[in-house]
Amino acid sequence: MDSHAAIIEKLNRLRRERGALVLAHSYQPAEVQDVADLVGDSLELSRAAAKNDSARLVLFCGVNFMAETAAILRPDRPVHVPDPNAGCPLANMITPRELADVRREHPGAVVVAYVNTSAEIKAASDICCTSANAAQVVRSVPADREIIFIPDRNLGDWVQQQAGRGDMIIWRGFCPTHNRIMERDVREARAAHPGAPVVVHPECRPEVRALAEEIASTSGMVRFCRESPAREFIIGTEVGMVYRLEKECPGKRFWPATELADCPNMKLTTLEKVLWELQDLAHPVKLDPAVAAAARRPLEKMVEVLGA
Ligand code: SF4
Repeated sequence: MDSHAAIIEKLNRLRRERGALVLAHSYQPAEVQDVADLVGDSLELSRAAAKNDSARLVLFCGVNFMAETAAILRPDRPVHVPDPNAGCPLANMITPRELADVRREHPGAVVVAYVNTSAEIKAASDICCTSANAAQVVRSVPADREIIFIPDRNLGDWVQQQAGRGDMIIWRGFCPTHNRIMERDVREARAAHPGAPVVVHPECRPEVRALAEEIASTSGMVRFCRESPAREFIIGTEVGMVYRLEKECPGKRFWPATELADCPNMKLTTLEKVLWELQDLAHPVKLDPAVAAAARRPLEKMVEVLGA
């Protein structure tokens, strides 16, 4: 048996013994997506984990804020990560003190927090959103209330156009990986693959979004590409998404707008680290229970607004 097959065999045995549910974000390396019980976006995965009653532990392959969200939604069950160094630079671009300062400058404003935030930031926010539902969440805020949108300026800019709220106070954070996708990358990809629709994530720069046929969350991308009659697509998001699309849309071809949109934090997870965590259980998510309880409120508010 080769070493890859031996790792998979050991991993499957351990996951059964531990009663573990293995979740992988769409930006994870292909080998990690292949061993997951479920592949999806951060909230899809956290909510699926919360609904699952049979697992005894959750192993979340993604970045830390995602595993935290799973732990916030289901505090009675341990959530583990393969590598605790897998942070998200976007989530780190606003601190609790900065949020308190901007709130003080805009008393009465509603803080809408993208799920790509730490538990502390969620705990100090009013309502959460994902890239799939951000416009709906923003529209739910009464017109006479100011909105502070954190932490992603590109998503904020797109959402304010979608929701017709030109007056939003948008935090200055950005995803370094999505920001690596440039206008010229999209133009070059179009020239190389004429006729292929350009599908980009709202975390991309405005000038990149302006060139796209479709702007969508990762779950929206899967839906669009599955339903579109096109056979080839140019994908403007983290490169791991191409693998998920290839699996979910057999027979279609996907070209990354640039190979440089490769998130180093997402790629900290390897098959070996998944196995080691199942073996050693060395990296549980630890949250202050009061922070976790406070962070659950804006997530529940989001679910309430969506009527989901
Ligand atoms: Fe954070 Fe961007 Fe990496 Fe996602 S792709 S984890 S938003 S840095």
